[in-house]
Amino acid sequence: MTKRIYSTDSYARAMTATVVRTDVDDNRVLLDQTVFYPGGGGQPPDAGILTIGDDQLAVVRVTQDADGVWHWLDGGLPSAGTTVEGRLDWERRYKLMRTHTALHALCGVIWRRFESPVTGGNMEPGSGRLDFDIPDWSADDLPLVQADLNEELVRRRQIEVSFLPRDAADNDPSLIRTKVNLLPKTLTEVRVIDIVGLDRQADGGTHVNETGEVGAITIPKAENKGRGFRRIRVSLAE
Ligand SMILES: [Zn+2]
Repeated sequence: MTKRIYSTDSYARAMTATVVRTDVDDNRVLLDQTVFYPGGGGQPPDAGILTIGDDQLAVVRVTQDADGVWHWLDGGLPSAGTTVEGRLDWERRYKLMRTHTALHALCGVIWRRFESPVTGGNMEPGSGRLDFDIPDWSADDLPLVQADLNEELVRRRQIEVSFLPRDAADNDPSLIRTKVNLLPKTLTEVRVIDIVGLDRQADGGTHVNETGEVGAITIPKAENKGRGFRRIRVSLAE
């Protein structure tokens, strides 16, 4: 298994690692540890560079399976046992961390106002959307939600990461803010992201340390997808 450095230190942007296995068919390597997030929970995988000796290879894709985290490379594969240096496209990743955190804060303010669960979501660096089940939404709610959100972000709320045994997580339904429990049955430990005082949920992604880092947020629109289904989009100011 790959040690997932991003899981406990989302600010780590580089690592030294050893190639554990190679896959010639897909031109990818499994590493013993990594700062590269393989994607999930609406957050896309990281991009960056692996340096092997004098060669710099672009990491064009990152995926995970039961064996660990695979780094798909553009260029010649290093062999197992090789030491490599990995470096993230940090500008892109940090924007994803800010965007991801903004979406959690949105979850929190929507929950407070409507007690509505999230039904879906997606993001790219700088913008994202969440889907909610909000039967009694009106157009007047959009500026109110945007104001709520920005008010919470400037409070510089701390964001804490912790790990719970699976049983404890299963017995805390408030943790699973999505409508369906999407956690794989095989997961023995659940990672919890807590925007202290605002939103707490099971999550594998990368977030900032305090909400002030997100900056100002605009909500350009909330689309009505029918029968209470609202798709709310958020954008970072810069
Ligand atoms: Zn999340």
